[in-house]
Formats: sequence, structure tokens, C-alpha cells
Amino acid sequence: MSEEIKKSSNFITEIIDEHLKTNKYQGKVHTRFPPEPNGYLHIGHAKSICLNFGLARDYNGLCNLRFDDTNPTKEDIEYVDSIKEDIKWLGFTWDEREYYASDYFDKLYEFAVQLIKKGKAYVDSSSAEEIKALRGTPTEPGKNSPYRDRPIEENLELFEKMKNGEFNEGKYVLRAKIDMASPNLNMRDPIMYRIRFAEHHRTGNKWCIYPTYDWAHGQSDSIEGITHSICTLEFENHRPLYNWFIEELGIHHSQQIEFARLNLNYTVMSKRKLLKLVEDKIVDGWDDPRMPTISGLRRRGYTPESIRNFAEGVGVAKRDNTIDVALLEFRVREDLNKKAQRVMSVLRPLKVVITNYPDGKVELMEAVNNPEDETMGTREVPFTKEIYIEHDDFMEDPPKKYFRLSPGNEVRLRYAYIIKCEEVIKDSEGNITELRCTYDPETKSGHDTSGKKVKATIHWVSAEHAVNAEVRLYDRLFSYEDPAGAKEKDFMEYLNPSSLEILNDCKLEPYLKDAKKGDKFQFERLGYFCVDTKYSTDENLVFNRTVTLRDTWAKIQKNSEQ
Ligand code: ATP
Ligand code: MG
Repeated sequence: MSEEIKKSSNFITEIIDEHLKTNKYQGKVHTRFPPEPNGYLHIGHAKSICLNFGLARDYNGLCNLRFDDTNPTKEDIEYVDSIKEDIKWLGFTWDEREYYASDYFDKLYEFAVQLIKKGKAYVDSSSAEEIKALRGTPTEPGKNSPYRDRPIEENLELFEKMKNGEFNEGKYVLRAKIDMASPNLNMRDPIMYRIRFAEHHRTGNKWCIYPTYDWAHGQSDSIEGITHSICTLEFENHRPLYNWFIEELGIHHSQQIEFARLNLNYTVMSKRKLLKLVEDKIVDGWDDPRMPTISGLRRRGYTPESIRNFAEGVGVAKRDNTIDVALLEFRVREDLNKKAQRVMSVLRPLKVVITNYPDGKVELMEAVNNPEDETMGTREVPFTKEIYIEHDDFMEDPPKKYFRLSPGNEVRLRYAYIIKCEEVIKDSEGNITELRCTYDPETKSGHDTSGKKVKATIHWVSAEHAVNAEVRLYDRLFSYEDPAGAKEKDFMEYLNPSSLEILNDCKLEPYLKDAKKGDKFQFERLGYFCVDTKYSTDENLVFNRTVTLRDTWAKIQKNSEQ
């Protein structure tokens, strides 16, 4: 694991430190990451992964991967595989400790029988509506089910028949017998098992009763000897139930600790909503580079380090909060700035002919690969009579403060010469199609004897040597900060219609000819880009823009310091 991440301290580490002091778990720290395989992991899960695996790392403990696969109708092996890939990519390992809640179905059944025998669980014949009607409200107590005092023997018999598939779905449920007057609704005889004739991706048709989350989760923690069961805040009200089951069964007692889930603005994070974007083909799959999924961020060009630093940097909160996506972008810039090779690429090309440069001449200009890292060395960039520059680095009729190229004005070509615009060529519709310029041979970079000063340096690519590519520019998927929280409209109404722009005629410096899928670069003055892993081929390079160079987060921080 990388060294840049230091052991952090927060309210969770305080609890663990206290447990270590009192020897509550014999000095052990054993966490777990428990995804439900009903979707791809997102940046919120990354927070949870970094937290759980990070605590295990920092305390010399262990972290299990446990698939919380108790709902067969929504789960799929594709999700299991993607989850494993994403966790590994983030840099964490669970060794052989890959567990499935479904592996505990037999044990959970035994535990349920144990509770029935103790008079702590019963089979209810009420319908879902009847159960709901008797549940009460937060301010009114619930009422006992007419089946609550069913004799133990009858409960055992019915429960076994439920398991054996002798009843239709909805006919019976198994409920814990706790307290219908409890102020905590989760304690009002919560459901433990439902009948569901659904095939499970691991257990097939062996089971037709499936445990609820509340029933499966804590017992799975206990079976695995988890010491600290870290979950998000919405489970705080479930903790009394979590404890009740474990205490009634008299089994190993994990400590549940809740923290605030990570929210990010301008996106949605619920798997249900992300699935809708995929199913409605708003995006190009779960790994679309605009998605907040780990696979989307990976395809977009994010590095594992940048995501770990983000997750670590936002800390562990007790109250819900929303993080600015600019912080995530700051983290990837920070990382790629150190690692990414600089190159010159022109996204919207404008041809420039340097009329006084010899025909056929090629000069190899020395370019620095990364000013942040001398060991990355230099490379040679060919310079010729015909080059491309960025269309918006030229203005025919510039405003006062425009220092880039304009008629009669001079700019420096990065790593090359100063050129002056002499003539503008247009097509019959008046569009600028080409510039005629002259260069000053005395101004070669590194050998400039002219004493000239120009106010702008622009990037360029030799026309003869240019590599063609498609470049995809991404913007936020939603144009509203909190699309999921909006009450008036459905989140889908806030989609940003211009979140993807595809440029087909980009010109890259020849160095990029051999770029491989996933390779990351800084295109000078434009941002960080990576070779798309899905659509790029040796013949047709496709690049994704990871992030622009403009750093709004650094600005926000600077302003707040003033
Ligand atoms: P969804 O409600 O979108 O289905 P989930 O929370 O049910 O998401 P799980 O697969 O159950 O998704 O999550 C696995 C683990 O990741 C859980 O421990 C959960 O608390 C944690 N987790 C999920 N979303 C976030 C988030 N936004 N921030 C921090 N942790 C999260
Ligand atoms: Mg969940």
C-alpha cells in the first residue's frame, strides 16, 4: 500500500483505540466490506472500502469481502465480478476471505429455529397489508399480530414447511418477537424471512425463503468474527435490533458503528438510479466515463491513488454532507501532474503554413516530458512548414487583452519559433480555413538570439506527422447540484444534455502513435487525457478527457484562506 496515506484519526479510530485499551476483542481489529451485488460500485463505496480496508491495514488487522447476496431477484454474477475487480484496482486485497451471506443460509436457518424455540420468533399468517396496518407510526405504538402467540411447536412446523416450499409467496413470514410498542419501529416484531420462489445466483433453487437484511447482516458479521461492523447512518436505528439478535442468540458480538455516507454534487449515487441511467441508455454502460462508478472513473482516467486520497481526505463524518466534485477533480490533477507525460495535441485544428520555412525540412525540437519529474526526460517533436494550431488560439478581430495569434501579431510556438500571422485564408462562406505565417529563424527555443518578447505561447502539431484521433470531452452528467434531492421533478429531468462532446478530427503529436489503452497524458494547455479502454484501437485512437487543467478547487481553497 502506498505511503502517502497516513494513519488517520477520527471517531471510529477512537472507538477502536478504546476497545484495544479495554481488550474488548483480544486486541483484534477485523472489519468487512459488505456490498450487495446489485450494481457496480461507486465513489461512495470507495469511501467505505478505503475506510474498512484502511482500518485493517492501519491496525494490522483483517478486512473481509462479503457479498450481501440475500435478494436474489436483483443480484447478478456480473456485479460480483465487477466489484472484485474494482476493489483490487483500488489497491486492496482480501486474500482468501471472500464470503457470501448466502453461504450462511443454513446457519441462519438454524439460528432462526433457535429463536423460535426460545419463544423469540413466530410465524405470522398476516398479509403484508395487515402487518403494515398493525405496525403503528413513530408516534403511536403498534398492535400485536393475532398470530403472535402461536405455540412454539406450530411455529417450528410452519417454518419448516415454509422452507420446504409448501406455501405460496406472501402466505407466511417469520417475525422476531420483540415489542410492538417500542418507540423504535425496527423493534416492532421485524420480519426475518419471506417466502420467495426465486433462483439465487449461488444457491440456485435450494431456498424459497430468504432472510431480510436485518436478520442476515449482524449474524453474518458474528459468524465471521467481525469486531467492528461499520455501516452508514441510516442503520443507526437498526443498531438496537442488530444487538438484540446477537444477544438473544448468545453469539460473538460485533460492534456496529455508523458514519455518514459520502455524497457528491452534480451526480446520483443510488444504485437504483444509476441502473436507470444504464437501462435507459442515457450512458454507455456502468463504466461510462461520466458515471460516478469506480469503473467509470477508471475509464475516465482516474488513478487508484487519486481516489484513495480523495476518500481519505474527506474524512469520516457523523452527519450527512455533500462533497464538491471539484475536490475529486483536484485529487486526480494532483496525482496526474506528477505522473503524466506532457504532449502537444490540437483538438480543433487550424492549419498554419509558415511561408518562409523551407519545404520538406523537418527539425526535431526537444520537449520536456514532465517538468515535475526530471527523470522522465525529454523527447523530440518534429517541426515542419505546415502545422496545426488550436482554432481558438487565433482571432481575426481580437479584443484588447487577447495575446494569442491575430493578424500582424506574434506568438511563440512551444519548443519552437516565434511566428507572425501575415494572411487569413477563408472559404466561400467566410470560415477561416488556413493561416499564412512567417517565422523568425533567430527565435528557436533555447537558442533565441532575437531579444523578442511575446505575450503568449501556444501548442501545435506538425501536419505531416500528426496522428489523427477522436477525443471525447465530458461534462457533469447533471446540470443541477442535487438531482436526487430535488422534490419537484424526477432526477432524470436534470440531465445535462451536453455532458458528452465528441471531437473527430483531433491532431496529436506523433509520440502518441503507440499509446496504449489506459495510458494517461497531459495535453499541454488542455487537460489530462487517457486512451479509452473500450473503443480505442491501434487504427482509431480514442481519448477521454479526464479533467481540464483549470483548478476550481485550489481557487476555492485560496479564496477561503484570504
Ligand atoms: P444503494 O442504496 O445505492 O443500493 P447500498 O448502500 O445499499 O447502496 P451496498 O452494496 O449495500 O449499497 O453498500 C456496501 C457498503 O458500502 C455498505 O456498507 C454501505 O454502507 C457502503 N456505502 C454505500 N454507499 C455509500 C456511500 N455513499 N458512502 C459511504 N459508504 C457507502
Ligand atoms: Mg445496502
